[in-house]
Formats: sequence, structure tokens, C-alpha cells
Amino acid sequence: MSLLTCASGKSVYRGYDYYSSNKVNVIEKVGDGQYKGFVDGRGNEPYEVFIDVNHPRKSHCNCPHANGKRIVCKHQMAMFFKAFPDEAKRYKTELEEYWDYEEKRHEDEEYAISEFLEKCDKSELADIIWQMLFDGPEWQYERFVREYLDL
Ligand SMILES: [Zn+2]
Repeated sequence: MSLLTCASGKSVYRGYDYYSSNKVNVIEKVGDGQYKGFVDGRGNEPYEVFIDVNHPRKSHCNCPHANGKRIVCKHQMAMFFKAFPDEAKRYKTELEEYWDYEEKRHEDEEYAISEFLEKCDKSELADIIWQMLFDGPEWQYERFVREYLDL
């Protein structure tokens, strides 16, 4: 079990962000796989963070989210990435691959939508628009009325 697998995806992502914007300002190795130091938080006082990579659940941080709980927060993750820059590099690569994949998927979808719309006739398009106006959010309806109708 590693710190990475104990943390939520959100904590890992935000932790990486904290690490790459240099919010880990003190780090000291205090034992085998143990590090302690300070990570900047939102307030003026930095948080006191301790991580134990061999026993992730022994890690702690005094931020409101993790204090007194066995939660691996973003500050602990930031310190983990600072202690293991190779892991940070690996995570960054994974993120970029994921974004590339998502971008590609989005492009494929847009292409399919455009192909589909070109095949529709006028009354099919009208049906689709009516359905979207009634099932969609209020702002969409309001915007349609504002932009296309002279009321
Ligand atoms: Zn924390």
C-alpha cells in the first residue's frame, strides 16, 4: 500500500499542483521512508506535515481536512512528490496521457455530432432543438429566446 493509493484522486491531483507550485517549503528525512516538514496552505501559517511511505496510515498533517484523521491530504501528497521527484514525473506523464486521450475523445465526439447533424433533415433538427430547449437548463432556453427571437 502506498501513499498514492491511500489518497483520493483529488488529493493526488491537488498535491501535485502544490508540489509543482513550490508549496513544500521545508522537508527533512527523519527515518526510513519518513519525512517531515512544512507545506503552505491557504492561510498564513504553513501546515506541519509528516509522511511515512512504508506505513502510509501513520502519515499526518494538521490541516482541517486531515487533522486527527487517517486521511492522506493534498499536503501529504505534495510532500510525497517533493521527496520522490520521479513519482511526480510519472504522475505528470500519466496526467498528460489522460488529457491527450480526453482531447482525442472529445474531437471524435464533435466529428460524430457534426456528421450526424449533416444527415438530419429540417424537421428532425427542429425536434432535437425543441427537446434540448425543454430538457436543458433554464439559461439555455432563455438564451435561445434572447438570441433568436424578436420578442
Ligand atoms: Zn493537509
